[in-house]
Amino acid sequence: MSALRYDVLVIGAGPAGCAAGIEAARAGLRVGVLDRATFPRPKTCGDAISNRAAILVDALVGCPDALRTVPHAEVTAGVAVFPDGSRVGRSFGDAPGFIVPRLHLDDLLRRALEAAGAQLRQGVKVRRLSTDGERVVGAEAEGLSVRADVVVAADGPGSVAWAALGVPYRRGPELAVAITAYHEGVTHGDAASTNEHYFEEDLPCGYGWIFPAVEGRSNVGVYQRADRFKAHGRTLPQLLRSFVAAHPERLASSRAVGRARSWALPLMARPWPPAGPGVLACGDAAWAVDPLAGEGIFQALWSGGLAGRTVIRALVRGGFDRMVARRYRLEHAAGLWPGSVARLAIQQAMDPLVERGWYQRPWVRALLRRGYGSDAFEVSKRL
Ligand SMILES: Cc1cc2nc3c(=O)[nH]c(=O)nc-3n(C[C@H](O)[C@H](O)[C@H](O)COP(=O)(O)OP(=O)(O)OC[C@H]3O[C@@H](n4cnc5c(N)ncnc54)[C@H](O)[C@@H]3O)c2cc1C
Repeated sequence: MSALRYDVLVIGAGPAGCAAGIEAARAGLRVGVLDRATFPRPKTCGDAISNRAAILVDALVGCPDALRTVPHAEVTAGVAVFPDGSRVGRSFGDAPGFIVPRLHLDDLLRRALEAAGAQLRQGVKVRRLSTDGERVVGAEAEGLSVRADVVVAADGPGSVAWAALGVPYRRGPELAVAITAYHEGVTHGDAASTNEHYFEEDLPCGYGWIFPAVEGRSNVGVYQRADRFKAHGRTLPQLLRSFVAAHPERLASSRAVGRARSWALPLMARPWPPAGPGVLACGDAAWAVDPLAGEGIFQALWSGGLAGRTVIRALVRGGFDRMVARRYRLEHAAGLWPGSVARLAIQQAMDPLVERGWYQRPWVRALLRRGYGSDAFEVSKRL
């Protein structure tokens, strides 16, 4: 068994782990990162990076327009499409978002992590956190034991930190599920740089998406809150097939490339991220995903950054105690919880609007327009 020692051990080199590791390494701390995957690796995702997430990526990579250095599509507008074909859209003005396949985004961040001085070990799956009494003091993997002053858990849903802190795998309205596939030959029409979200009667508390193509491949998928998904009893591949069949105007001449992939999204339905003596969870491991949109990349970058800065403050001050974990939980909740709870309420309200056709009423359309930040509602526009 090999043994390693760091100031900070980060588990997972996705957006959250890279953000935490880069912050800590740039402050001069000895940072070790373990990831079970070997990079570049794909990650089941819609690949949509909002303009606010792109700003965080630039800061982490240390270069303006970092996303333009890898294969990408620029996203200049977003549109919500309703069952009758009506659309409410908004333009992103001079702050576009991006589509960047996670194969490329995560490798870009991984390179920045190593350039910052963090030591990344790939192909190492952490089995459990090690503890000394109540305190987390490191982690165990096959043939490897790592000790650290602080562990940052950025290993996504089912995090090893949940077991160590006694956090159950919460399902129901606190979890969403999604499936995605790349399609070639999608007819984007006049929406070549628009993210399209389709709210459908048979997808309560969810939506289907068709995103702009990168290198000829468009990300197509379906997202739904787990409680509503469980209620109808259909599988994710069935939902994706129905969604594709329901949109021949876009997808009739398209062809799926590779297999469809599904994964879980832990939603921020409660304010407090898992944290305790010696350990902070961030990103999906902190249930940080936005419930309405399923956006988790911005949240992972933001909460990873907060975890990194918290670690720096604690170690420079001389120790990681209970107060540090408490303050992290408060700052995390203050940053992400108010927006998430509001969007959870909007998701709940959207449900009858779509299911009962109320979205067609003029006052609802006016509300949707206002909520979406748009000045246009195109009624039954054929694509
Ligand atoms: C189908 C789908 C579509 C989505 N679409 C979007 C979208 O378009 N836009 C958006 O913003 N968000 C989207 N999300 C959410 C987004 O993918 C996540 O919120 C985001 O990846 C979270 O980042 P993270 O760093 O916390 O975790 P991850 O990106 O999951 O990274 C975790 C890392 O930890 C590693 N790891 C896991 N377990 C271990 C272990 N035991 N030991 C060592 N390493 C481990 C993994 O290999 C991985 O590299 C989508 C999610 C899904 C499932």
